[in-house]
Amino acid sequence: MGLLERELSAFRRRTRRSARLFENARRYTPFGVHSNYRLVEPYPLYVRRARGTSIWDADGHRYLDFNMAFGSLVAGHANPIVVRAVREQAADGMIFGFESTGTARLAKVLCDRFRMERVKLSNTGMDATQFAVRFARAFTGRSTVLKFEGCYHGSHDALLVSVKPTREREGDARRPTPVPASKGLVPELVRRTAIAPFNDLPATEAIARERADDLAAIILEPVPMNMGFVLPAPGFLEGLRRLASELGALLIFDEVKTGVKWYGGAEEVFGVTPDLKVFGKGLAGGLPVAAVGGRADVMDAVVPGVVSHAGTYNSNPLGVAAAVATLTKVLTRPRMEAAARLGGSLLKGYADIVEDRGVPVRVQGMGISGTVHFTETPVMDWRSFQSVDVAKWWGYYTAMLNRGVIPMATGPDEQWTVSVLHTRPQVERHLEVFDAVASEIARFEAPMEMVESL
Ligand code: PMP
Repeated sequence: MGLLERELSAFRRRTRRSARLFENARRYTPFGVHSNYRLVEPYPLYVRRARGTSIWDADGHRYLDFNMAFGSLVAGHANPIVVRAVREQAADGMIFGFESTGTARLAKVLCDRFRMERVKLSNTGMDATQFAVRFARAFTGRSTVLKFEGCYHGSHDALLVSVKPTREREGDARRPTPVPASKGLVPELVRRTAIAPFNDLPATEAIARERADDLAAIILEPVPMNMGFVLPAPGFLEGLRRLASELGALLIFDEVKTGVKWYGGAEEVFGVTPDLKVFGKGLAGGLPVAAVGGRADVMDAVVPGVVSHAGTYNSNPLGVAAAVATLTKVLTRPRMEAAARLGGSLLKGYADIVEDRGVPVRVQGMGISGTVHFTETPVMDWRSFQSVDVAKWWGYYTAMLNRGVIPMATGPDEQWTVSVLHTRPQVERHLEVFDAVASEIARFEAPMEMVESL
């Protein structure tokens, strides 16, 4: 039996209530889940409650959480400052159907912090990236959008192309074939999506130039975090900036993940200014608030009756109150820097352990996030990510879970998040458990004759 099989059996034994809840859920909901990414083997872990950095599952087990809702909880679970703001606002009404008094304050906070001239609020990363693409198409009068293979921008038609294409369909590495990531997409939209390899500027340039006449935008995650954790190569973001300007296309940073990883988001770290930025996860301490913003001329072109931007729940007062509290009182620069130092310790701890234990993996990260890629190849784009051994990752993840630590978000393409509520002893606990699991991984990796002698 391999590590994964052993750990899955242990998982089944300790999570019987989750199994039952899943069976019930499946009666009414196809596959039992309301976001496909939550469907995992053998069934999802059902969570009863969460606070700070802890989660309790349906069977009453407590976990130290480093998933933090796929990076949405840099503020921590149920952060008391956010909870207070939400309670106070809830008592005064949760949605008005009018503009509310606090919204302009939030818009200013977002513009100041993330260096934008204008901003518009909505609810999810999906809707905000969709708006960004529409704004770019409307502003430029063009249709084609260039995205990168392996980047994810939400579950909407415009960008659901080459998110995780298979080897059989993806084509040439330097000229990837656009592969729809779902059935049900209109072929015309897929044709209007150009796909380039991340971190390969010459290949991207060639692809963009071919479509130059119709190129509305280049959109990317400045640090791709849907293929683990991939840093942009030196000069790559600068090169895209030059290319977009030269071709008259807009450069859009999808900062749904990166926005809350660093105080001022990706621009502050990498010094490259896009035309539009999109934010989502993490802005409101766990409530759904998203934003698209940037250049005044592009945003001011979103004229009512000409370019659509709408949503009943956009800038709802509950989300706005949570976002103002989160951004001004919780995710302050000193607290984010302290979290980044802890993140640095976690990253270094992982790197030391895999070296000591001789586990053939790559640890990649920066600041509060990082990941362990089960491959010896440096991961710098989708093709190198494909060398990751997915089953080994699940073995690691399940083994960590069974020992009370949710080490990162669900999936080998994800990463951990250290929130402002995590403490040094908790990072040390995470590393202690990983050390034990790494020695198990090394034992299962070793040839049989070595295992017998261990
Ligand atoms: N963009 C990026 C970079 C993301 O990682 C995600 C979600 N993982 C989205 C957009 C979509 O956000 P949401 O799930 O809130 O729609």
